[in-house]
Amino acid sequence: MAGIYIHIPFCKQACHYCDFHFSTNLNTKSDLIDAILKEIELQRNYLEGEIIETIYFGGGTPSLLSHKELTSILNLIHKNYSTDSSPEITLEANPDDLSVSKLRELKSAGINRLSIGIQSFNDDILRYFNRAHNAEMASSAIQEAQSLGFQNISIDLIFGAPDQSVEDLKIDLHQTLKYKTQHISIYGLTIEEDTVFGKWEKQNKLTPLNEEIAAAHLEVIMATLAQDGYTQYEISNFCLPGYESKHNSSYWHGKKYLGLGPAAHSYNGKERQFNVAHNIKYIKQLQSNILPASVEKLSAEDHINEAILTKIRLIDGLNYVELKEKLNYDLLALRKNEIAQFTNLEMLVIVGDFLRLTPKGKLLADFITEKLII
Ligand code: SF4
Repeated sequence: MAGIYIHIPFCKQACHYCDFHFSTNLNTKSDLIDAILKEIELQRNYLEGEIIETIYFGGGTPSLLSHKELTSILNLIHKNYSTDSSPEITLEANPDDLSVSKLRELKSAGINRLSIGIQSFNDDILRYFNRAHNAEMASSAIQEAQSLGFQNISIDLIFGAPDQSVEDLKIDLHQTLKYKTQHISIYGLTIEEDTVFGKWEKQNKLTPLNEEIAAAHLEVIMATLAQDGYTQYEISNFCLPGYESKHNSSYWHGKKYLGLGPAAHSYNGKERQFNVAHNIKYIKQLQSNILPASVEKLSAEDHINEAILTKIRLIDGLNYVELKEKLNYDLLALRKNEIAQFTNLEMLVIVGDFLRLTPKGKLLADFITEKLII
């Protein structure tokens, strides 16, 4: 089983925190879709005939695709790859795109999972982030999607805006839980260098939330969502029973995937492939029937670090027995002191074959992971 990711590198406007690959110039959209269609055909053997069980439109802003563009991509995938009889098909959408007619189009194109970029229900925070929507648009997008019968909706939230208090966060969570969406992803705000926030930080116009307050935020998030029946199946991802993102879970469990579109990457179990992160170069190369990708062979060390970095974040934790058997890395022996230190602090626990973060450990997950990798 494998997945396909399609990167749609266009946005209406740039959010101040975002360092994903996207352009606000939509003039090349039609050429770029043609290039993606070409890439779908050229890459048809990449996954060696594995059944595709998930398709994921990410970005950028995939909700900018027209119905025709979306169906042409999906039809060509179905024609060139063996797809599961009912694949999970996710599309990331921004609330300002989700009119009733747009939602109907998405449904009729076969999108069965919507991931809506809400980020916050607080208008001050949304303005500060330079989002294109406000809180009212966010609420109505979720409600319309629900009333039109989307039964698998995820919403994205960001916590840790510089002036966000724990009280503000609680209000955001309260609003979120009104809709009882099947899935919630919550990420802490990170300040990336090549963004407006990165520039503001350098100019001392922005001070990131300190780590202690960010950890307090995460603690509130975990307690509140657990109380409402959500399982934290990955540090940043929460769901109602049975609604884990199949697509993202397949990354974390090391399954193969094919990434299409500029800046997308792929993994075939041995090596990783990176598409050029430049819309025009991507289009031109595909117009000449050249795959716009470079290949990176993963070293044994890369495989070990990747397994540690992703799996320690999961609900079951990291299977250290499997790590030893498959990658010949005896984590318990080689990181004996670090593991003892964190288990004494009740941040890590060993349960059967798994090394697992405790709720306390989740608050310091990055720090702990740093001590475990090679
Ligand atoms: S956060 Fe989403 S909508 Fe905003 S610039 Fe980044 S990709 Fe575009």
